[in-house]
Amino acid sequence: MLKPAAVARVLIVGSGVAGLSAAIALARRGVHVEVIDHVRQWQATGAGLTLGAATLRALQQLGVLEELMRLGHTHAGIQVCDVQGQPLRFIASPPLPDAQVPGAGGILRSVLHDILFAEAQRLGVAVHLGLSVDHLEQREDAVQVRLTNGRTQDWDLLVGADGLASALRARLFPQAAPVRFTGQGCWRVVLPRPEAIAHRHFFLGGPCKVGLTPVSNEEMYLFLLEHVPHNPWRDPATQHAELAQLLAPYGGPLAEVRAQLGPQSAIVYRPLESHFLGERLHAGRVVLIGDAAHATTPQLAAGAGMGIEDGLVLGEELARSQPLPDALDAFMRRRHERCRLVVENSLRIGELEVQGASPQAQTDVVDASLRALAQPI
Ligand SMILES: Cc1cc2nc3c(=O)[nH]c(=O)nc-3n(C[C@H](O)[C@H](O)[C@H](O)COP(=O)(O)OP(=O)(O)OC[C@H]3O[C@@H](n4cnc5c(N)ncnc54)[C@H](O)[C@@H]3O)c2cc1C
Repeated sequence: MLKPAAVARVLIVGSGVAGLSAAIALARRGVHVEVIDHVRQWQATGAGLTLGAATLRALQQLGVLEELMRLGHTHAGIQVCDVQGQPLRFIASPPLPDAQVPGAGGILRSVLHDILFAEAQRLGVAVHLGLSVDHLEQREDAVQVRLTNGRTQDWDLLVGADGLASALRARLFPQAAPVRFTGQGCWRVVLPRPEAIAHRHFFLGGPCKVGLTPVSNEEMYLFLLEHVPHNPWRDPATQHAELAQLLAPYGGPLAEVRAQLGPQSAIVYRPLESHFLGERLHAGRVVLIGDAAHATTPQLAAGAGMGIEDGLVLGEELARSQPLPDALDAFMRRRHERCRLVVENSLRIGELEVQGASPQAQTDVVDASLRALAQPI
């Protein structure tokens, strides 16, 4: 077992990637961890996830990289192509100074969730669905939490991993800036993977930004970012036709993707939103992690990665011999700059996409950001 943590009992609100990663990091140090989630049945929406090398490093440290490599897909770098699928540039995965992991990867969201969930359960973490926080009271020696089923208990620490619309953020930081719609919408769909799509692809220079990421030996997912300043509602019944229309100017592999779209396609459309809480992520014995603290647009494909790293670093800081407030301050100091970089650079790339900036200008920011994220956490 790793060095034990300064806290003995931790309640985590939210069983997404951030909450489950924190649960694993803490349970590995002998902490009694329970996770609650208000959904009655867990369901991962949103197709696939692209994972950078830094995220794979964090998953390695959590002990689940092997399983991810078995069930997902790993590869290196990003092939940048033009609208017709002709290669323009290859963005190499920057080497990590402190880990040997593949340069990039992809996995279905539901599969990553299952891997993290299984590991948390193996470590003895109890996950309770259909529950939320009803009331909390902070004392010096504990945070008392009453759940929506009436169960009331003292905890050493409450971790808010309750996502973009975090109720704990609203409760703890009512003055926080609201979540902001960024003017883009994201279309995603999982498809069979042709052999030629063996690593990440971007298709730039057209009306939208389009990409493909392998998520297993058999599957890949497509994402398409569209400029939608008025944030229209998309009727699920016609989404396949709208996505096909958006893909009409594109050739090469995207023409093949377009030909496969139909009413049967499981398309996920989502307007992009962003927020960044800032430097202060804790109040008393409650700390926010993941999207609850910093939700990014997907241009760097690092939002889930930041949540996973949050969980890992929280476990590390709580394992140092220091009072809880110092541990939480140290956690914030280690997380602030990386998470700020991801949120701000993703917004910057989104602006360049909307402005129709050159592929070189867009991918220069991607390249610089991946290099920064390669640094040790
Ligand atoms: C279009 C799009 C594409 C993306 N693509 C990528 C990508 O390729 N790679 C990547 O790394 N990141 C990507 N991201 C970002 C990534 O999806 C998020 O950063 C990540 O899922 C956040 O994880 P989380 O655990 O913090 O929050 P969530 O996954 O939102 O989990 C929060 C959990 O809390 C629960 N919950 C919420 N409120 C309550 C409550 N009141 N009580 C109890 N439980 C509650 C929810 O049910 C949920 O299970 C993308 C984001 C978007 C929008």
